[in-house]
Amino acid sequence: MFCFFPPRILVHGDGFQELSLQSNDNSCLSRFQSTLYRKESSHMPSSYLISKLRQYEALHKRCGPYTESYNRTIRKLESGNLTDESSSDCKYLVKIQSDGLGNRILSLASAFLYALLTNRVLLVYDDKGETADLFCEPFPDTSWLLPMDFPVRNQLRTMNKRNVENYGSMVKVSGDSPSQALSSGFVYHHLILGYDDNDKRFFCDQDQIFLQNVSWVIMKSHFYFAPALFFIESFEKELTALFPEKDTVFHFLGRYLFLPSNPTWDLITRYYETYLAKSDEKIGIQVRTFQPNIVATFYDATFTDQAVPDTVVSCSLDNGLLPKIETNESVTISQRNRKSIAVLLTSLTYRYFDKIRDAYWDHPTVNRDVIGIFQASSEGNQKTGDKMHNRKAWAEMYLLSLTDKLITSPWSTFGYVAQGLGGLRPWILHMPSNETVPNPACTQAGSMEPCFHFPPSHGCKEKSGIDSGALVPHVRHCEDLKKGLKLFEQKASY
Ligand code: GDP
Repeated sequence: MFCFFPPRILVHGDGFQELSLQSNDNSCLSRFQSTLYRKESSHMPSSYLISKLRQYEALHKRCGPYTESYNRTIRKLESGNLTDESSSDCKYLVKIQSDGLGNRILSLASAFLYALLTNRVLLVYDDKGETADLFCEPFPDTSWLLPMDFPVRNQLRTMNKRNVENYGSMVKVSGDSPSQALSSGFVYHHLILGYDDNDKRFFCDQDQIFLQNVSWVIMKSHFYFAPALFFIESFEKELTALFPEKDTVFHFLGRYLFLPSNPTWDLITRYYETYLAKSDEKIGIQVRTFQPNIVATFYDATFTDQAVPDTVVSCSLDNGLLPKIETNESVTISQRNRKSIAVLLTSLTYRYFDKIRDAYWDHPTVNRDVIGIFQASSEGNQKTGDKMHNRKAWAEMYLLSLTDKLITSPWSTFGYVAQGLGGLRPWILHMPSNETVPNPACTQAGSMEPCFHFPPSHGCKEKSGIDSGALVPHVRHCEDLKKGLKLFEQKASY
């Protein structure tokens, strides 16, 4: 087991005891208690990643909000001075949060990886205040929240690709000399659905060289764009040293960055202890169905949801995730050695719950295992900005990540967060396109990494026109989205 906190100590084995004895800080209970709920990870972070994180913490403390260096760099921003080739002042990445919580978490983890690779200090702009409510501060003795008096704060919410500061627009106007199009003290990156080939230049080596000297980079993204950072040659060596196992990027960065705040931790632990703790095995099932217009952005088909519960049951039975159902009433079987299995179902609606629960209520299992099926909430729809709704969503993602085996829905960043934090390779459902259950009903993912849904495909200069899923062995197309890209362990045996 590993734990990144507190910064001075790397904990292995039963280090939780050691940690909790040393700390009487109650401001972030999950920091010290999560090891009580999580299974030991089968992956170990590289010593290089650990030391890089310690260095980053020192950088953030030295350069974070209202430090001398921050104040000086803010003055440069106010005076429209964009680059800083001479002094040793700090450089910053302001990440604008956007869309649902899963998207926010994954894009923030990607932004942090970019900050690590470019020695920038990451500051989060979140107009809804969700970051502060849902997560503990990840870095010691400082804050990752963008100060309220940040000079261009009131422009951030509406920042878009038409802004003159947008890097894509700058290269569109001035080609390979973007410095000629500089007009203010920052560069903006628009990494959002609908971004164009100029915006995608962010993922090109030559453009990163230009950005090296820019003090303030502002980025809006809802993508898990980490896989595409592996295409940038100048990052390659560092990424290999940080992540010798390529499919652990979100697993490690997610566990490091996203510690549930006390109110969410209270939801998680109460639910876990009430419904999950006593079972021998825990199965997570995440059912997420999208509106047809959203499905259309991913896939060339429509989906109906009547057959979804049967698809979930089929997936569970065909892959041995849940025990078989006994339909022969006269059979009596010894009740010894039976297991208790807790199934945590998450969904915005109870529509699927009854049918899945009834499958095991109407009949016993062949081996008389006892199945409890639970659903924590049915929020109806996404309610961005609603505090309790977001806490429940974060609690449910986290609870799914504490299960032993996980079934997820295609394209859902909610499910990706759970699988990555849990270190689980989920079984991804094949959504039914008519009233029949697809065969197979699901496929197990080849890696626990999230999918980058809309990656650059144009290539940079010499790589133009090449399939971006075939450029390097560890970045390949996603199981749930052919045009998407995700990280795989290079020597994968699956
Ligand atoms: P995605 O849309 O599936 O990629 O996931 P996001 O997390 O980005 O956005 C969906 C949002 O809908 C979540 O953040 C929640 O606010 C809400 N949501 C979706 N599924 C669930 C669920 O199973 N439980 C809860 N509590 N909220 C959900």
